[in-house]
Amino acid sequence: MTEGILQRPLEPPENAVQRFREYLASRPKPLRFTEAQRQMIHFIFSRHNHFDAEQLCSELDRAQLNISRATVYRTLNKLVSAGLLRRVQLGNRVLYEHDYGYPQHEHLVCDHCGKVIEFEAPQLEAMYEEVCRQYGFQPSRHSLVVRGICLECVRSRSPRRRLDWI
Ligand SMILES: [Zn+2]
Ligand SMILES: [Zn+2]
Repeated sequence: MTEGILQRPLEPPENAVQRFREYLASRPKPLRFTEAQRQMIHFIFSRHNHFDAEQLCSELDRAQLNISRATVYRTLNKLVSAGLLRRVQLGNRVLYEHDYGYPQHEHLVCDHCGKVIEFEAPQLEAMYEEVCRQYGFQPSRHSLVVRGICLECVRSRSPRRRLDWI
């Protein structure tokens, strides 16, 4: 179970499609834009969440979009190269999430139920900048993951079980 928490209006899927088409056209050997790609982008960019490729395949099936597994995997790679999606390591899984039109943020990951909570931390941004300046380092991106137990999981455990975790 994963969910995005930042309450932001999403960039319209049309804009993501436009950006992807520009990316395809800018390749040394321009690539064709397909109907399956358009459907996938609309599906992915109409909500924000964290997902892996297999999860996406079964959700597309459930939505009765007939897109082959191979196409899903290939298109995900292209969406990452185009800067529309990014891969994030969350706990022991590598998941995809929106990169395009979505703010830089950090994650809390529940080790018990797998929930992902997003938060923004301007103080951390300032600290990262300061550290990079000190080292003359050019940052491209960063990711902070805090692992632990979410509030709902803590509450659903008896006090005695909670002591077991310490
Ligand atoms: Zn939890
Ligand atoms: Zn996220």
